[in-house]
Order: sequence, then structure tokens, then C-alpha cells
Amino acid sequence: MNIILFGAPGAGKGTQAELIQKEYNLPHLSTGNIFRAAIKNETLVGLKAKSFMDAGELVPDQVVVEIVAEELEKETYDNGCIFDGFPRTVFQAESLDVILAKKTSGDTTVVALAVPEDELIRRVLSRGQGRTDDTEEGMKNRLKVYHNETAPVLAHYNAKGWVKIIDGIGTVEGIFDRIKEALS
Ligand code: AMP
Repeated sequence: MNIILFGAPGAGKGTQAELIQKEYNLPHLSTGNIFRAAIKNETLVGLKAKSFMDAGELVPDQVVVEIVAEELEKETYDNGCIFDGFPRTVFQAESLDVILAKKTSGDTTVVALAVPEDELIRRVLSRGQGRTDDTEEGMKNRLKVYHNETAPVLAHYNAKGWVKIIDGIGTVEGIFDRIKEALS
């Protein structure tokens, strides 16, 4: 089983991914986490990603797809995966279609967390994890990028009938209950 956690920055993808990981024993693949680790370790990928991340822009598709394809080669992902923050463009979604078609990891469900924009801004600006992109300016740009480049990904998956829209407002546990129900 594959789960694609979809939603704007601040929608709660990372938080819910942790809970899904425990409940369904699926590995969590967060491209944002991979890039943050790469920056910390000063790798070539980190160097390529840093300026885009700091500006709230997307890291170029080629870089992202290569990293995900390489990661998915690992045995850990043979039975499926929770994708968090990927795919973020239609190009990435089409690339993932090709990758998943070659695997036998089962069905894919897109869990789309719906959260109003004022709440997204409030959450991101108060999350206090010291992320260099969690500034007012950074968040403004990430929301613009989300609307222009990421939102169309939902139509790509809607056409396949894979999308479950989840109300992303409420307690962490309450939202997780809705996700479990959608996956059952
Ligand atoms: P996240 O932790 O998912 O919010 O990602 C933080 C930042 O990493 C984003 O604002 C982008 O700059 C970059 N990033 C993460 N995932 C992707 C992706 N799938 N495509 C392009 N850029 C990404």
C-alpha cells in the first residue's frame, strides 16, 4: 500500500505521516526531510537544494525525482510507502506513476488534508522548529507555489479516482481517525 499525503504547507502532513507510519508499519519518505538532512551534511544535493528552500521555491524536478527514485530502490520500500511532500508538480506525479508501475507495492491512496489558508499561516508561523523557510515571506511564497504548481497534482490523481479529501481541522488524533476511516 502506498499513501500520498497531500496538502499545503502547514496542513499537517508530517505529523500525520508519523502516526500512519506506526499504525500501518509503512516507511515515511519526506523529500523535505531528505533535503534538510542533505543541507546539514553539506552534500551536493544539499547545496543544490538550499537556495530554493530558503526562498520558498521548489527544488528543480530533476533533482527531486532522482532522489526519490534512488531512495525507492531500497528494500525498505518494497511493500509500500508514505509519501510526504512529494509529488509537488504534475511532472513529479507522472514520474512517480512510472516508478510505481514497476513496483508491486499495491494500491495508492492520496490523502488530501484540507485546511483553510489563515489556519495554515497561523500553524507555520507558530511551529517553532527553527526552519529557515518558516518566515512570513517564505510562507507567502510557498503558498503561491502550492497554488500554482502543486494544486494541479490533485486533478492528476482525481482522474485516477485515488483521492480522499480529509478535513484537516481539529485535534491530531481526530484527524488521524478520519484518515484511518478513509483508508479502511
Ligand atoms: P517540506 O518539508 O515538505 O515543507 O519541504 C520544504 C521545502 O523543500 C519546500 O518548500 C521545497 O523548497 C523543498 N521540497 C520538498 N519537497 C519537494 C518536492 N517534492 N519538490 C520540490 N521541492 C521540494
